[in-house]
Amino acid sequence: MAKITRLYDLFQPEHYDIFLDISRETKHFRGKTVIQGIAQQTEIALHQKDLEVMVVYVNDEKTPFEIDSANEVIRLQLSQAGNVTLTVEYEAELTDSMMGIYPSYYEVDGVQKQLVGTQFETTFARQAFPGIDEPEAKATFDLAIKYDEYDGETILSNMPEIKVVDGIHYFDTTVKMSTYLIAFAFGDLQSKMTKTTSGVQVGVFATKAHQAQELDFALDIAKRSIEFYEEFYHTAYPLPHSWQLALPDFSAGAMENWGLVTYREAYLLLDPKNTALETKQLVATVIAHELAHQWFGDLVTMQWWDDLWLNESFANMMEYVAIDAIEPDWHIWEMFQTSDVPAALQRDATDGVQSVHVQVQNPAEIDALFDGAIVYAKGARMLVMVRALIGDDALRTGLKQYFNNHQYGNAKGADLWAALGDAAGIDVGAIMHSWLEQPGYPVVNVEVVDGQLTISQQQFFIGEGQNAGRQWQIPLKGNYEVVPQILDQPTLSLGDYQQLRNENGQPFRLNVGNESHFIVHYAKDLLADILGALDQLGAIDQLQILQDLRLLAEGNQISYAEIVPLLEKFADSSSAVVNDVLYRLAGDLKKFVQPDSEEEANLQKLFNQLSAKQVQRLGWKPRAAESNDDQLTRPYVLGAALYAKNPEAILAAHELFEQNQNQLSNLSADIRSHVLSNEVKNFNNERLFNQLMEQYRQSTDPSYKADLSRALTATTDEKQIKAIIEKFEDASTIKPQDLRAWFRGLLANAKGQQLTWDWIRNDWKWLEDTVGGDMEFNTFITVIANIFRTPARLEEFKAFFEPKLQTPGLTREITMDIKAIEGRVKLIQAEKAAVNTAIEKIIA
Ligand SMILES: [Zn+2]
Repeated sequence: MAKITRLYDLFQPEHYDIFLDISRETKHFRGKTVIQGIAQQTEIALHQKDLEVMVVYVNDEKTPFEIDSANEVIRLQLSQAGNVTLTVEYEAELTDSMMGIYPSYYEVDGVQKQLVGTQFETTFARQAFPGIDEPEAKATFDLAIKYDEYDGETILSNMPEIKVVDGIHYFDTTVKMSTYLIAFAFGDLQSKMTKTTSGVQVGVFATKAHQAQELDFALDIAKRSIEFYEEFYHTAYPLPHSWQLALPDFSAGAMENWGLVTYREAYLLLDPKNTALETKQLVATVIAHELAHQWFGDLVTMQWWDDLWLNESFANMMEYVAIDAIEPDWHIWEMFQTSDVPAALQRDATDGVQSVHVQVQNPAEIDALFDGAIVYAKGARMLVMVRALIGDDALRTGLKQYFNNHQYGNAKGADLWAALGDAAGIDVGAIMHSWLEQPGYPVVNVEVVDGQLTISQQQFFIGEGQNAGRQWQIPLKGNYEVVPQILDQPTLSLGDYQQLRNENGQPFRLNVGNESHFIVHYAKDLLADILGALDQLGAIDQLQILQDLRLLAEGNQISYAEIVPLLEKFADSSSAVVNDVLYRLAGDLKKFVQPDSEEEANLQKLFNQLSAKQVQRLGWKPRAAESNDDQLTRPYVLGAALYAKNPEAILAAHELFEQNQNQLSNLSADIRSHVLSNEVKNFNNERLFNQLMEQYRQSTDPSYKADLSRALTATTDEKQIKAIIEKFEDASTIKPQDLRAWFRGLLANAKGQQLTWDWIRNDWKWLEDTVGGDMEFNTFITVIANIFRTPARLEEFKAFFEPKLQTPGLTREITMDIKAIEGRVKLIQAEKAAVNTAIEKIIA
């Protein structure tokens, strides 16, 4: 791939007039783009991709041009530099790649329909109009769009529509903004509207395949999020409206286009009467994330893609800050601890991982930057550390300053640190440098050496790791006063342990609140001290102990066999986060047992032992006025009982299935997935399979569809497995956006693994052609690497992916994934016997 040269250095656009005439019928569009700007030299270029350019005028004079497809540009020779008006007339196709301008497909009452929308991040605006498609090249835009319009259809864009003349829809001039944030969409839509207290119009839009009430939840969260941000940022929402639009085909989760945020349907629409609390929380955080971007990302934009983390980390933190403020009873930071934190800690421990801040060399690498566990989760963790260090007052003062200084412009990481540092009187940049520029994170060892309480740091690895001598400035958050705020050296002695222990009257702990990005390895006696006072610890502290032990075992610093006897200490917890990590850890033990072996039977007994009391306590049906923790815990313990093949649990789930046979979507969403999976695992037949497949095809409820896909991929029937794989490439059943979940389900299924692995190897080309432009394409490889665990699969993985190592955008992923599987294979070989002995010892 070609190396990037910044076109913005040669030509600075100031204003675009864009006219598009789009036909869904012919999948074709015609465009005319007029750009006013300043040329720094006579040789300039505009970005374009797959545009068939008819004619170019420079200041109304027809000009020769050269298309350079490899570099995605059109080159122009001007007679002189300075102010210039460029006019480009062109045609292009609508493709089904979910990038650029693209159709979404759906059905209402058996009639096929199309909704056209856009996805321009990262570099796909150039597929719709020529221009300088770089975040720094901010300009104003006038959009005019014509389309094959039917009565009653709606068209939306970043700004309000101001007039319609001869079927052409004209939109108000935008504020100064980046090309990747331009958006529009048209089709047969329904909507719900409201207004914020400050007068911003808020709307939610969806196709008419959905029930009107599915829009309500999003409307409420969007309105209150905007109100929250206006207050928190001390900065008014910059546009007249904020539209939220659900697109039936969508590659990422959601996209923060300024004023017209687009979402995967699963992340915007939900049935208010039957949706799991966890799903509601997830949808709310996605909406709050995109709306945080309306300021941080849209109003002030990263200067170049290397600072992508600045956008994403910040929005990822703010989604929790916002939802915690507007729905305090949800304790939403607990979700941060069970989703972002473990994702970041796991991925960031693999040698070869990218740092949060990365240089970008070529266009394909821009998309590979979107490593969710690093750019989103670890980055957010960095900002949570900053927030904990400087406090909310300084954060808000600093942000207000940052928005003031850079609004309608661009910024770099250093600009944010400067603003926050000024507000807090701390050199934030210096502390953050070690975290942002270095990959990985430290484990802090705590031990008593010659009577002295001693802490030391070194990089933590899962699998093979090259020790590069990296050191971090670690916010320690110790519970003894003697602990300094920051550890900035390899080793530190804190003083006489016995004396400190007596003075403080409690076990010694670090990273209290689990807000800093490191794990703690306590020496055995110090850990025993903590575990002895477990009941005095809060839920997050208990989660942290299990989470750190789990990572230490993954990194081979302690044995899983040491953790097995500890699990029961946590089994009766009424906290959802403790149960989350407990069953995650218990689930990790599955890799040490063969399917259908005596060892698996022992592990199942352990699951039964862990979950029995909680199953009794919580039962299968939600109770009136039960706590959020109980609602969230129920699926974990029922899932454990079913894995354990507990006959009462299997029967209870079966009865629920039979009672709801004719209206399966009415099963309580918290447990629906378990009921359906149980049926497929234990009462499977062709009729059931066809019934669930048909439900999947017909349903428009994304969370129900996800439950059905989870259940169907649990089948052990080879004929059914083959039937599912046949549907992988049939978009009328499984949309490309949903394929990865199906693939993962079947690959994780011992009976389905071989056929599924064969499929992806045989049809890799199809996959690349279908979803290869997608910025999450490489996660198909991650999915495989998270599942494989045998030497044979490792060899097959290498044989297939090593020849693809030079594919731009895949290099890092493949390298890391080989390490991840290698590490797991070794771990299993080393620990298998000890782990199974430990399990045998504690089962009654
Ligand atoms: Zn984002």
